[in-house]
Amino acid sequence: MMGNMNEIINEAERDLLHTYNRFQVVFDHGEGVRLYDTEGKEYLDFCAGIAVHALGYSNKEYKDALKAQIDKLTHTSNYYYNEPAVKAAGALKKITGMDRVFFTNSGAEAIEGAIKTARKYGYLKDGSTDHEIIAMEHSFHGRTMGALSITGTQAYRDPFLPMIGNIRYAVYNDLESVKALVNEKTSAIVLETIQGEGGIHPATKEFLEGIRRICDEKDILLILDEIQCGMGRSGRMFAYELYGVKPDIVTLAKGLGCGVPVGAFLMTEKVAKNSLKAGDHGTTYGGNPFAASAVNAVTEQFEKLNILDNVVKVGGHLAERLDELKKEFSCIKEVRGTGLIWGIEFTEDIKATDVCKKALENGLVVVSASGNVLRLVPPLVISENDVDEMIKILKKTLKD
Ligand SMILES: *Cc1c(COP(=O)(O)O)cnc(C)c1O
Repeated sequence: MMGNMNEIINEAERDLLHTYNRFQVVFDHGEGVRLYDTEGKEYLDFCAGIAVHALGYSNKEYKDALKAQIDKLTHTSNYYYNEPAVKAAGALKKITGMDRVFFTNSGAEAIEGAIKTARKYGYLKDGSTDHEIIAMEHSFHGRTMGALSITGTQAYRDPFLPMIGNIRYAVYNDLESVKALVNEKTSAIVLETIQGEGGIHPATKEFLEGIRRICDEKDILLILDEIQCGMGRSGRMFAYELYGVKPDIVTLAKGLGCGVPVGAFLMTEKVAKNSLKAGDHGTTYGGNPFAASAVNAVTEQFEKLNILDNVVKVGGHLAERLDELKKEFSCIKEVRGTGLIWGIEFTEDIKATDVCKKALENGLVVVSASGNVLRLVPPLVISENDVDEMIKILKKTLKD
């Protein structure tokens, strides 16, 4: 048995590779939208494990479904069919409007699959191997080499050069910068519908529509990364619905499993027919019965709990309260977002990371994003009262 919080933290710092500067807290369990540390202190959670716990903690039906699947079968391998994965694929097709699904274990792996799909699509089209992908500055797509290669933050990439080749970077929400990079070699344009890690920047309608038009004209694949902004967080099941734009490939993870590691990339039939074939791609764990049962439980709970309605309602309230907060505090430069994905950008005299630390002491879990932004990505089951409580703690924190 481990001891108190400090002992656990010390052991962690001794044994785990130091790739994170962690907050000094050890969470033990959760209930609804509250987390409890090993010493019993309660926290209101506006982080949700970084946009993961859409259903909050300890949802009974979700837990029961996972337990039942553990008792039956957790893994088979993709050499065989399994019913939960078939069911999950059907559910995802329905909610995304895509035609084919590949399950992964993480967001980064979903991105890897999307990149491979785009490369194969280009290769089958003209047989050449020098196709280009256009990605965005300040994007975030994950930490594996392919995902890192399309991540638009040079500091994340530099120590790990060389990246995979032929990636070009455009400026997010600047259509001209995309047009300037498009040529006959371009096979795909990849972006987050709402940039998350980069500081909560939603795409403008003109930008996304413009990119869709370019892709249609030149047979370029539009890859939308909805790993953070998808699965209901925007108030629509997927943020691209807000724009009336449909991608050719979409990547999912985070909220998809609500705590069970599962991701997916999906594509239209046209892309599927002209890209990955048997032997081109694979995964041992991806889409195993256990992970798939989580996806099924999540999609069922989304319907049953009317999650989207709650996001729209509570998200509207959150937008109003954040607007008031901005008027009250001169250290707030801008608030941006939609649904239940929001960023509060601070002026230089105050650091978002310091606010997070202080908020934690005051019983509120929040994380930052780049560009001095405090990120609010709570469980999608929060209530207006939870929002009011969060605002109260945040006010106290900012006053300090
Ligand atoms: C988190 C995230 C990823 C990476 O997902 P992992 O599961 O951490 O590999 C990719 N894209 C976006 C938009 C993300 O927010």
